[in-house]
Amino acid sequence: TSARWDTIVIGAGAAGLFCAALAGQRGLKVLLLDHAEKLAEKIRISGGGRCNFTNRDAGPANFLSSNPDFCRSALARYTAADFIALVRRHGISFHEKHRGQLFCDGSSEQIIHMLVSECDSGGVERRQPCAVRAVRAIDGGFELDSDAGPLKTRQVVIATGGLSIPKIGATDFGYRIAKQFGHKLIEPRPALVPLTFDAAAWAPFVPLAGVSLEVAIETGQGRQRGPVAARGRDTGARFVEDLLFTHRGLSGPAVLQISSFWRPGDALRIDLGAGADLAARLREAKLSSRRQLGNELATWLPQRLASAWLDSHGLPAERAMPELRDRDLERLAQGLSRWTITPDGTEGFRKAEVTAGGVDTRELDSRTMASKRQPGLFFIGEVVDVTGWLGGYNFQWAWASAAACALGLAPA
Ligand code: FAD
Repeated sequence: TSARWDTIVIGAGAAGLFCAALAGQRGLKVLLLDHAEKLAEKIRISGGGRCNFTNRDAGPANFLSSNPDFCRSALARYTAADFIALVRRHGISFHEKHRGQLFCDGSSEQIIHMLVSECDSGGVERRQPCAVRAVRAIDGGFELDSDAGPLKTRQVVIATGGLSIPKIGATDFGYRIAKQFGHKLIEPRPALVPLTFDAAAWAPFVPLAGVSLEVAIETGQGRQRGPVAARGRDTGARFVEDLLFTHRGLSGPAVLQISSFWRPGDALRIDLGAGADLAARLREAKLSSRRQLGNELATWLPQRLASAWLDSHGLPAERAMPELRDRDLERLAQGLSRWTITPDGTEGFRKAEVTAGGVDTRELDSRTMASKRQPGLFFIGEVVDVTGWLGGYNFQWAWASAAACALGLAPA
């Protein structure tokens, strides 16, 4: 054919940069396009500017998808250890922050620089900003209408990400191309996102904005579902992480994690004691402490939360521990360990760190990310219905799906 490129990768974010680099290094003639002014802005702002580039323990259990086994192959073939080795080869120093989460010691720019230099060693040509208006299948490949004019290629990789943070260039381009070629979409929804509450219901908690504490948080269980749904859909989850009260609702790692599993109408069950036996603690304090209830509670909970909780539950904060009724202490412990509240929504794509849902994986080849509907078309990264937990997993999916695709592309 007369195609000028072996592969055009659309989207120069985490997945697109890495895929282009590896494909170029295999000897393919690769063009990488992105419509944004700035390169890989999402990597730059990730991990608070330090890029939580992977998680040491990343495995299929850390991902949500309506087809949970799809991610196995790619994750097994390009692991966190593989990416760590690459980061080391580039002399980038890093540290583990929390539960396997790896961050750059310096800045996320180092990861961007690493990916660009990998692209350079693969001879990848990059054009940016360059918008693509249309992708058409033609004999022997594809023709693209772009700001750089018409482009011909044998293969196209869609790496345009999800809908999160439209301010820095997120679009529904990938979903539109998927639909154009007959792919089904799993309804995209904001994930790793703060949850909001009805203003009236939240009013008592507004003064707690800024309070943070470790909790155990759950949602989803108890919803009726058959065995197929239970496997096919996220089965509910539990996390022990920090919770943060905000003016509008709840945030912090605990809530970001659970938000990916939360569906409208579902309640959150929050154990403010993070798994501790609060009833036993209170019984023991009644026998051994002369403190007032409010002060006693404030030894385990943030002071503001302790007083607000006692106030709103009509419990006597000033009464000394030995004078409290067992029944009241029991009720207090129950309430704190089974706080049940129902969000009325999320902060939306404007604030979501990722987009759950996306291109239905049942129509993709799990070894190569190739479309089963259109030969030569591939989908990688966040545009695919594979969503990681908070903690470096989303980048690991970007790297792993990119690597699977780069190896799956037809050679030059
Ligand atoms: P992206 O990196 O989003 O790249 C998509 C690219 O496609 C963009 O450059 C965009 O400009 C381009 N594009 C979009 N539409 C078009 C179009 N029509 N034409 C051409 N180009 C287009 N994950 C972690 O694992 N660790 C973290 O520390 C972390 N921190 C995060 C912090 C924030 C604030 C956010 C928002 C996300 C964070 N994530 C983190 C998630 C992670 O950034 C994404 O999952 C990851 O970047 C997805 O990679 P991707 O290549 O699929 O998409």
